Amino acid sequence: MTDLSINSRNLLAAQQPDEVENEPREECGVFGVWAPGEDVAKLTYYGLYALQHRGQEAAGIAVGDGAQVLVFKDLGLVSQVFDEQTLASMVGHVAVGHCRYSTTGSTTWENSQPIFRHTDAGSGVALGHNGNLVNTAELASRARELGVYGPRTTATSDSDVVGALLAHGAADKTLEQAAVDLLPTLKGAFCLTFQDESTLYAARDPHGIRPLSLGRLDRGWVVASETAAFDIVGASFVRDIEPGELLAIDSNGVRSTRFAEPKPKLCIFEHVYLARPDSVIHGRSVHSTRVDIGRSLAREQPAEGDLVIPVPESGTPAAVGFAQESGIPYGQGLMKNAYVGRTFIQPSQTIRQLGIRLKLNPLREVIRGKKLVVVDDSIVRGNTQRALIRMLREAGAVEVHVRIASSPVRWPCFYGIDFASPAELIANGMESEENMVDGVRQAIGADSLGYISVEGMVEATGEKSSDLCAACFDGTYPIELPTETAMGKAVLETMMSTSQGTAPDSLIAKNDNVSAVMRP
Ligand code: SF4
Repeated sequence: MTDLSINSRNLLAAQQPDEVENEPREECGVFGVWAPGEDVAKLTYYGLYALQHRGQEAAGIAVGDGAQVLVFKDLGLVSQVFDEQTLASMVGHVAVGHCRYSTTGSTTWENSQPIFRHTDAGSGVALGHNGNLVNTAELASRARELGVYGPRTTATSDSDVVGALLAHGAADKTLEQAAVDLLPTLKGAFCLTFQDESTLYAARDPHGIRPLSLGRLDRGWVVASETAAFDIVGASFVRDIEPGELLAIDSNGVRSTRFAEPKPKLCIFEHVYLARPDSVIHGRSVHSTRVDIGRSLAREQPAEGDLVIPVPESGTPAAVGFAQESGIPYGQGLMKNAYVGRTFIQPSQTIRQLGIRLKLNPLREVIRGKKLVVVDDSIVRGNTQRALIRMLREAGAVEVHVRIASSPVRWPCFYGIDFASPAELIANGMESEENMVDGVRQAIGADSLGYISVEGMVEATGEKSSDLCAACFDGTYPIELPTETAMGKAVLETMMSTSQGTAPDSLIAKNDNVSAVMRP
């Protein structure tokens, strides 16, 4: 039997100041542990803490003790959702955890995870999902036909539909068999961790778009979106979970089932931007990849300057690589206020007017009189860089040369990353492709601007380009995009709130030019 206990605080994240733009956001982080005799709730809490950068809107943990599954989740950061008392009440030997941003589905308590469902056989299923499916409407329609996903269902995420179908499938067979039957019907990006009362499961889509790894504890096993989560709980890395693989972990050990042929298309953006630098993806240190990107950037887009400074902290490894390759000294010219963006208190108008100074503060004695080479990870709308360059000049910089450690983002991601809308991307706003870089340079007020090429990024990852997704940079999507997906979050929610599971014609008509390969 199963219980579901929750409180619901409607927390709203503070709006960012006008000059601090929305950065690309990972949709979610997942964690799972099977470890009899260990405090699995607390291990999961710390695992989620390490994955907090992947989702800061909601967090949740499910724990199974062999007889029941208990779920606790809420809107907010991991540290805001859980306290000692709550964790102490979650006793068991198997747990899954989740931290969330929304791409499909809005930011509501109902869409926070783990999703919980009863099977007809009376057991509980709790599920966490990282990624984004592209056939959600088709799956929702099937779930409605089966009577397990009604028009009054309050959750609107692809993950909730998967949870409903999985629990339904386990009515007359094991959860493992239900998963083997269901997983091949899911299209898009998914890393799933799920459980019943006794067993932990982990599955990765056949393209392996998002990372998912297996680790070993003295008395059990862990799975996590990133290997940095293993370090914090004292687990050792065993291996990546393969694209198209399902793992089941219980007292019989670890069982592996191949539910689909692997067609690897790992998200290159995980390497260059999203994952923690202390994680290892596909055997390669993320930090090392980013240092190598900086080296390639220095070769492709050389600059003359007195000092290389990073925009902390995500630009730091690339700035180190740029300095090593160029021979220009490296220095810290900007200090980051690490806690901005983690407050749930709305800033006052006076504070908002501080703009980028809320986030970054220049070290004037380092900057004054220097020709700076500023290395940043990406440019989205350009607001941040414009404000930053103005701030550096006010602090005494005589020249500011900007070098960007990723190629221009030109296309939306349908596989779990939330960018600004295509219309907001500064690289899309320029009159011609040829003049794009100089147009952006003028818009942000830099003396020179250079981006690394897609080829340079791929080379630094050590992967074959054919094994990577780079669709947000080159528009070539590895997984077919049903029109429904291109409609975006708001339209999909409209669809899923109707009993027919179809979108209003007026909305479909605006999006009928979408195909698997998108061009400007
Ligand atoms: S479109 Fe971009 S962000 Fe999305 S999976 Fe592909 S490379 Fe990653």
